[in-house]
Amino acid sequence: MTFAELNLAPSLLKAVTDCGYTAPTPIQEESIPAALAGRDLLANAQTGTGKTAAFMLPALQRLTVQKKGNRGAPRVLVLTPTRELATQVLDATRTYGRYMKLRSATLLGGMPYRPQFDALAQPLDLVVATPGRLIDHLDRRSIDLSQVEILILDEADRMLDMGFKEAVETITAATPADRQTLFFTATLDQTMARLAMKLLRDPVRVEIGAQSTISEQIEQRLHLTDNLFHKQQLLQHLVADQQVHQAIIFSATKRDADTLAKTLSAQGHRAAALHGDMNQAARNRTLRDLRRGHIRLLVATDVAARGIDVTTISHVINFDLPKFAEDYVHRIGRTGRAGAPGTAISFVSGADRDALQRIQHYLGRTLPRYIVPGLEPTVTLEARSKAPARRPGAPTRGQHRPGSNERAGSPGQRPGARSGAPASRARREPVVEYRKRSR
Ligand code: AMP
Repeated sequence: MTFAELNLAPSLLKAVTDCGYTAPTPIQEESIPAALAGRDLLANAQTGTGKTAAFMLPALQRLTVQKKGNRGAPRVLVLTPTRELATQVLDATRTYGRYMKLRSATLLGGMPYRPQFDALAQPLDLVVATPGRLIDHLDRRSIDLSQVEILILDEADRMLDMGFKEAVETITAATPADRQTLFFTATLDQTMARLAMKLLRDPVRVEIGAQSTISEQIEQRLHLTDNLFHKQQLLQHLVADQQVHQAIIFSATKRDADTLAKTLSAQGHRAAALHGDMNQAARNRTLRDLRRGHIRLLVATDVAARGIDVTTISHVINFDLPKFAEDYVHRIGRTGRAGAPGTAISFVSGADRDALQRIQHYLGRTLPRYIVPGLEPTVTLEARSKAPARRPGAPTRGQHRPGSNERAGSPGQRPGARSGAPASRARREPVVEYRKRSR
């Protein structure tokens, strides 16, 4: 299928061509025709699939048609969980809408109110907002949502995880009941499905499997690690490689992100941290420096790094393995952007065994293990796996993931997603050696 076959307005087609896109991605192929036909969407898609264009192109197409009697209140509203994602959605909107007359604004938490009031005092076509700040504006009556024709929820699952369920419901209640709603989520459990049922009318289901969400271009590698010191040594070794053009290194906590960024800087690397405790100006500065190549190693936490779309990231390094498979997929999707090759390296310790099982189960494959000569691990996961799989009383698969309710199926897997080979039967693949350690 080509973009021309999607019946997009000429201005949008031209903008998409400018972007160098030759064909729609699977999520775009499925979502765009249904959305253009006015249908609600319930789309299961992760970042890196081209989901932003999947919802934004139909929304912009709507805006190419003037609406009589609109007093300048926004006609398209996009809700995103984080400020970074909102900013990227707005950037994408401006890219795709470059040949249209488009009046847009972001309403983001952590940003000053005055410019937002000023923006809202002008006529607007499209608003991208984080839920908390939008609720503030509704309370202050500084925004009118009565003209919203299309409501888009981007990464709805993450909004719920962040405790925005009520806010989302209040916001949707302030929009017209006959609006069109495009609901995008990386995971779909019972809580999400219930929310979707409430907000959507006879939606078209669009599902893009986990398999296709990981770019073929991303090479995935595992390193077994003994302890923190071993991880630090491995990291030091890996980032010394000039093939690491730019990397995002994921750490489990904000404090670790700061510490690791400082250590890497002290070792002479252009490194910085990105996490939720930084104010918005500092985060924006860091992302700008990353885009401009001033930062080579960005140490980030999950929430802060969500949605980062920098095509020059050659490596993702999971210094700490994420606990959930969805986060793994999100993280490694920061590399291999727009068809570029990428490498995703994960450090796995004995404590990560269950998480690794979930990830491999979700991916339907066993990830290859690598060693660096001279920095070999002293333990194997298999030796440890003779121990009981779970502590008594520890959550079993299918039990709650912290911060979200009633995840159906295993926490690492979307209901209905293809399961692939059970990780318990996963054979250990031959260890592959690469690159002699430089002395
Ligand atoms: P997203 O999943 O929306 O974060 O998009 C991931 C990346 O894919 C972004 O860098 C987009 O610019 C790019 N992209 C979106 N649609 C296409 C397409 N049809 N062809 C090539 N790249 C695309």
